[in-house]
Amino acid sequence: MCGQILERALRPHVRSADNEKVRQDLWIPMLLVLGWATVARAMLVSAHKLPPTCGTCGRRFERRHLGEPVCRCHA
Ligand SMILES: [Zn+2]
Repeated sequence: MCGQILERALRPHVRSADNEKVRQDLWIPMLLVLGWATVARAMLVSAHKLPPTCGTCGRRFERRHLGEPVCRCHA
Protein backbone atom coordinates (compact mmCIF):
# COMPACT_ATOMS: atom_id res chain seq x y z
CA MET A 1 0.00 0.00 0.00
CA CYS A 2 2.65 2.49 1.08
CA GLY A 3 4.93 1.19 -1.65
CA GLN A 4 2.31 1.89 -4.34
CA ILE A 5 1.92 5.51 -3.18
CA LEU A 6 5.67 6.02 -3.17
CA GLU A 7 5.92 4.49 -6.64
CA ARG A 8 3.25 6.88 -7.99
CA ALA A 9 4.95 9.86 -6.36
CA LEU A 10 8.34 8.94 -7.80
CA ARG A 11 7.21 7.96 -11.28
CA PRO A 12 6.94 11.50 -12.82
CA HIS A 13 10.49 12.24 -11.72
CA VAL A 14 11.73 8.96 -13.19
CA ARG A 15 9.91 9.65 -16.47
CA SER A 16 11.41 13.12 -16.91
CA ALA A 17 14.87 11.72 -16.23
CA ASP A 18 14.23 9.04 -18.85
CA ASN A 19 13.14 11.67 -21.38
CA GLU A 20 16.31 13.70 -20.83
CA LYS A 21 18.37 10.57 -21.33
CA VAL A 22 16.47 9.73 -24.54
CA ARG A 23 17.02 13.30 -25.83
CA GLN A 24 20.77 12.96 -25.22
CA ASP A 25 20.81 9.52 -26.85
CA LEU A 26 19.14 10.99 -29.99
CA TRP A 27 22.39 12.74 -30.94
CA ILE A 28 24.14 9.48 -31.74
CA PRO A 29 21.54 8.13 -34.25
CA MET A 30 21.26 11.64 -35.76
CA LEU A 31 25.02 11.71 -36.38
CA LEU A 32 24.83 8.17 -37.77
CA VAL A 33 22.03 9.14 -40.19
CA LEU A 34 23.98 12.23 -41.28
CA GLY A 35 27.12 10.16 -41.81
CA TRP A 36 25.24 7.51 -43.79
CA ALA A 37 23.54 10.21 -45.90
CA THR A 38 26.99 11.56 -46.79
CA VAL A 39 28.25 8.07 -47.63
CA ALA A 40 25.11 7.29 -49.68
CA ARG A 41 25.49 10.53 -51.64
CA ALA A 42 29.17 9.81 -52.32
CA MET A 43 28.20 6.33 -53.57
CA LEU A 44 25.53 7.80 -55.90
CA VAL A 45 28.06 10.31 -57.26
CA SER A 46 30.65 7.59 -57.84
CA ALA A 47 27.96 5.46 -59.57
CA HIS A 48 27.22 8.48 -61.88
CA LYS A 49 23.63 8.72 -60.63
CA LEU A 50 24.30 12.23 -59.34
CA PRO A 51 26.72 14.81 -60.76
CA PRO A 52 29.69 15.74 -58.58
CA THR A 53 29.45 19.16 -56.90
CA CYS A 54 32.08 21.59 -55.66
CA GLY A 55 32.92 21.34 -51.96
CA THR A 56 33.36 25.12 -51.69
CA CYS A 57 30.36 26.61 -53.51
CA GLY A 58 28.13 23.50 -53.85
CA ARG A 59 27.59 24.07 -57.59
CA ARG A 60 28.02 21.47 -60.34
CA PHE A 61 31.21 21.35 -62.40
CA GLU A 62 29.32 20.90 -65.69
CA ARG A 63 26.09 22.48 -66.97
CA ARG A 64 23.01 20.30 -67.35
CA HIS A 65 20.99 23.02 -69.09
CA LEU A 66 21.86 26.38 -70.66
CA GLY A 67 22.47 29.26 -68.27
CA GLU A 68 22.87 27.11 -65.17
CA PRO A 69 25.49 28.54 -62.80
CA VAL A 70 28.53 26.28 -62.44
CA CYS A 71 31.56 26.20 -60.17
CA ARG A 72 34.25 28.75 -60.96
CA CYS A 73 36.42 28.14 -57.90
CA HIS A 74 39.14 26.35 -59.89
CA ALA A 75 38.92 28.43 -63.08
ZN1 LIG B 1 33.16 25.86 -56.50
